[in-house]
Amino acid sequence: MKVTGVETCVLTVPTQKPIALEFAHHKLVIAQIATDEGITGLGYSLAFGGGGAEAIKVYLDTRLAPLVIGQDPLFVERLWERMFRGDRGIKRQGVAAYAISALDIGLWDIAGKAARLPLYKLWGAVTDRVTAYGSGGWPAYGIDDLIGEAQRYAKLGCRYYKMKIHHPDPRENRKRVEAVRRALGDDVRMMVDANQKLDVLGARRQAAMLEDFDLVWFEEPVLADDLAACAEVAQSIRIPVATGENNYTRFEFRDLLERRAARYLMPDVCRANGFSETLKIGHLAAAHQVAVSPHVVHELSLHIVGALSNGFLVEFIDWTPPDLFEGLPPCEDGHFRIPDRPGHGVALARGAIEKYRTG
Ligand SMILES: [Mg+2]
Repeated sequence: MKVTGVETCVLTVPTQKPIALEFAHHKLVIAQIATDEGITGLGYSLAFGGGGAEAIKVYLDTRLAPLVIGQDPLFVERLWERMFRGDRGIKRQGVAAYAISALDIGLWDIAGKAARLPLYKLWGAVTDRVTAYGSGGWPAYGIDDLIGEAQRYAKLGCRYYKMKIHHPDPRENRKRVEAVRRALGDDVRMMVDANQKLDVLGARRQAAMLEDFDLVWFEEPVLADDLAACAEVAQSIRIPVATGENNYTRFEFRDLLERRAARYLMPDVCRANGFSETLKIGHLAAAHQVAVSPHVVHELSLHIVGALSNGFLVEFIDWTPPDLFEGLPPCEDGHFRIPDRPGHGVALARGAIEKYRTG
C-alpha cells in the first residue's frame, strides 16, 4: 500500500455556553490521508481555543506530508521516525508535535482499517468500556454556570468532575470548589486544575486549603516546563498531582516519572506526537505504577485507555456540535463504549468541512 496524498484544512468550530464564556471556538487541523488501495485515514489535532492551528497546518503541509507521500502507511513506526527526525533544528514540541500527531493518528487509522480492527484491539485490548470524567469549570463561569455544568455531567452518570482553580486568591478557589462539592453530593468525586498558573509556594498554599475535599488530583500546579518544580509540589502536598498535557515526548515523561513528579500522567494524543508516542508513554508509566488519564479528545484517547492496564479516566468536555463528527460514542452511565469500527472509528460528518473550514 502507498500513500498517494495528504489533504489538510483548518476547521473553526464555535462552542456553546457555558464553554463559550471562556472560548469562542476551538480549531481542528485535519489531515486526510489517501492510499492507492482506497483505504483512507483521518488524522487531526485539536488546537484548544484555536491557538497555533494555522501554523500547525503549514508545518504539516510543507515539512511532514512530503515525508509520508509515496510511502507504505503500514510502516507507522518508520514514518513516525522520519517525521520526528526530519527537521533536526525544530524540537518536536508545540507546533511540530501537533503536526506529527495528526499524521500519526491518520496512519494508525489506516493500519486499523487494513487489519479490520479497532485500534484498542490491534494494540491488545484490556477493556472496551472506559470511565469518563466531566471537565470544565472555567474561571469565566459564574457560580450558576459552574454548578449547572457539574450537574449536567453528573446527570450523564459521570462520577468525577474537574474544575479550574484560576483565581489569584486561593480562598476564592476554595469557595467555588466548596459550592460545587455541596451541589454534587458524595457520589461524585472532584479534581482541580491550576493550568500552570502557580509557583511551588502558591501550589502548596492552595493545596493545603483544599485537602479536606478528598480530591482525586491537583492538576498542572506549575509551569509544565519546570519538571523539578512539579516534583517539589508532588512531594510536598497531600493531594496527588496530575500533569502531562503540555509535555511532549517519552523523554519528557520519563523525566517526570523518574522525578516522581506526578501520580497521574495525562498525555494528549494530539500534542505528544500521536498514538505511537502516547502508547510508549503509557507503557513507561506502567513500569512506574503510574496511572494514565489522557488529556481531552476522548474520542481518540479511548483507544489508548482501552489498551493500557494502567489506563484510568478519559476527559469528557462535551463541546462538539452534532454535525462535526460521525460515530462519536454517547456517554452512558458515566462511561464510553469504545466503537468497534476499524481504526479509531471517528469520521467527519458529511458537510462538516464545508461548514467549518477556515483555512
Ligand atoms: Mg488540564
